[in-house]
Amino acid sequence: MKKPKTPELNRRQFLMNGAVAVTALTAVGLGANYLKKLNVENSKSLLRPPGAVNEDEFIYACIKCGLCVQICPVNAIKLATIKDGLSYGTPYIDPRAQACDFSCDALQCIETCPTSALDFIPFKTAGEEAFIAYNKANPNIGKDYNPIAIQSKAMKANTTMGLAVINLDTCFAAKGKGFKGSPREDGFDGVYRSPNPKRKERKASLVNDHAFNRDICDLCVTECPIGETAIIMENNGNIMTPKVLDACTGCGVCVMVCPSSEDTIVIDKLKTV
Ligand code: SF4
Ligand code: SF4
Ligand code: SF4
Repeated sequence: MKKPKTPELNRRQFLMNGAVAVTALTAVGLGANYLKKLNVENSKSLLRPPGAVNEDEFIYACIKCGLCVQICPVNAIKLATIKDGLSYGTPYIDPRAQACDFSCDALQCIETCPTSALDFIPFKTAGEEAFIAYNKANPNIGKDYNPIAIQSKAMKANTTMGLAVINLDTCFAAKGKGFKGSPREDGFDGVYRSPNPKRKERKASLVNDHAFNRDICDLCVTECPIGETAIIMENNGNIMTPKVLDACTGCGVCVMVCPSSEDTIVIDKLKTV
């Protein structure tokens, strides 16, 4: 039997096939690079939960399991939707709707993350170091001794979601204005645990269950869970205005409780003091 003839590849066909293959591979490479860039660009605007690693690592480390969403006691963490493009399914916080107020005390979202997209190691280390330092400085244990609170405080202080940025054009204090009543619009269902020691809240309560009466508005300062190392009122000419300091964690409680317009305080996740 005659062997079937193998079609001969002429030189022109060979070159054309080669060119097509090179073009296809280049397109795939460029496409992958483009998608990677788009992925990171899209997600840059999303405020990630505490402990998130750098955005370009986070977008690949997060497996979109939603465990951080489930564990948060104040429902601060949401999953991005299809409108967020390639960030779809990744966790983010919209602090104007619901800030991370550290109600969990132990940064549970970070602890529960199975992939270290939210990295617990720095917080664990900070907690342990604070505990050791406290014990060294206070060899005689008093009645206020609370090892969990000591560690929790240090862990919260080490959170860096971003930095609060205040727009003095719309800030009430910058206009010399005070504030009376509940901070947010009727029906607002955001919650937080007030740092006011008189309230002694174990659980978060509705922002609008808190009524204020201030000659000069300073809610962002008094309700900050980190305190005066993160934000203060400072004399700015003849008026007192809020000033954000470097211990600000970007938790967004000030964004949530601000009674002025929603653009008065925003969290910039890339800014530093
Ligand atoms: S650290 Fe904040 S966002 Fe994370 S679980 Fe606790 S309250 Fe929720
Ligand atoms: S727990 Fe970690 S991996 Fe799961 S959605 Fe949250 S950040 Fe992503
Ligand atoms: S100023 Fe305080 S309340 Fe506002 S984001 Fe920073 S730490 Fe949170």
